[in-house]
Amino acid sequence: METLNSKGELRRNEPLSGHTSFRIGGPADVLAFPVDREDLEALLRQITQQGRKYFILGGGTNLLVRDGGVRGVVVSLQRMGAIRTEREYRSVGGTFSIVAAEAGAPLGKLQSFAAEHGLTGLEFAAGIPGTVGGAICMNAGTAAGEVGDIVQSVTTLGYDGRLIARGREELGFGYRTSNIPEGHFVVEAAFVLRHDDREKIKARVKELQEKRKQRQPMGAPNAGSIFKNPYEESAGKLIETAKLKGRRIGDAQVSDKHANFILNVGNATARDVLELMEIVKQTVLEVHGVRLEPEIKIIGED
Ligand SMILES: Cc1cc2nc3c(=O)[nH]c(=O)nc-3n(C[C@H](O)[C@H](O)[C@H](O)COP(=O)(O)OP(=O)(O)OC[C@H]3O[C@@H](n4cnc5c(N)ncnc54)[C@H](O)[C@@H]3O)c2cc1C
Repeated sequence: METLNSKGELRRNEPLSGHTSFRIGGPADVLAFPVDREDLEALLRQITQQGRKYFILGGGTNLLVRDGGVRGVVVSLQRMGAIRTEREYRSVGGTFSIVAAEAGAPLGKLQSFAAEHGLTGLEFAAGIPGTVGGAICMNAGTAAGEVGDIVQSVTTLGYDGRLIARGREELGFGYRTSNIPEGHFVVEAAFVLRHDDREKIKARVKELQEKRKQRQPMGAPNAGSIFKNPYEESAGKLIETAKLKGRRIGDAQVSDKHANFILNVGNATARDVLELMEIVKQTVLEVHGVRLEPEIKIIGED
């Protein structure tokens, strides 16, 4: 196999357990960290010319990587994370700023940037881990709001090397989804945020963080909500009332605090998690007649 070149770092046979919030996952043949857009474009050209497969990694906070790892190149945009204010304008409802963030910026950093600059709209993101790129793809959010509400435009790089900027209405935001085609890199996103009182914004953030602390298990590695909330009821309630809290396979355990979380309480394997997910799905189907769909992305080989 030909070699790859990048201005950034290229790690061979890199365990992905070190790059996912679940702390689970076999090795990537190559894990690449391009440092800027030019570097990413050059890397993608080599990947496609050499006929290699690739996967785009954000913060790895919504991901279960199977134990055999990922063949091909895993590309992390972690080192492309600049945030800047682009322009300010007045319109109905107040003064607004457009804030642009590179895909690798942590969503939490973007939320703090907005709060510090007295910009409202991102408070809901307080406590959602991961990157801006992942948040765009997943339309990350809570009952208090979601990323798609405040996006102005997103720039993507396709496998054909073309950069495309698309407006919010073209991005197909839905419940934890967008229509970013697989294999297309989100490289940057622009957000519309309204000017507001900084202290009020910080107070809202604090309140949402407190609520999260009460609901969410802290401590053991996890990947957030495992299943999407079906139409009928929250996935957590369905799993809890099917008496699955605390259910354990190997070191994977359904959280006692929030039943839609699976915790890695030691050295869980992806196999443990997948087996437990299957039990949860089957039991919820038998007890409630509801078919749960995974929210997390499952990738790699057994
Ligand atoms: C403790 C905890 C709490 C959580 N709470 C919430 C919550 O309240 N609300 C919520 O919505 N989610 C929540 N999550 C899930 C997760 O944080 C979000 O889905 C997050 O947006 C995923 O971002 P990421 O960068 O980690 O993406 P990853 O997990 O790395 O990837 C997710 C998907 O996005 C793709 N992707 C990532 N970056 C790019 C890019 N630059 N270009 C193209 N594709 C890309 C990946 O290929 C993959 O398909 C939680 C997770 C944890 C661990």
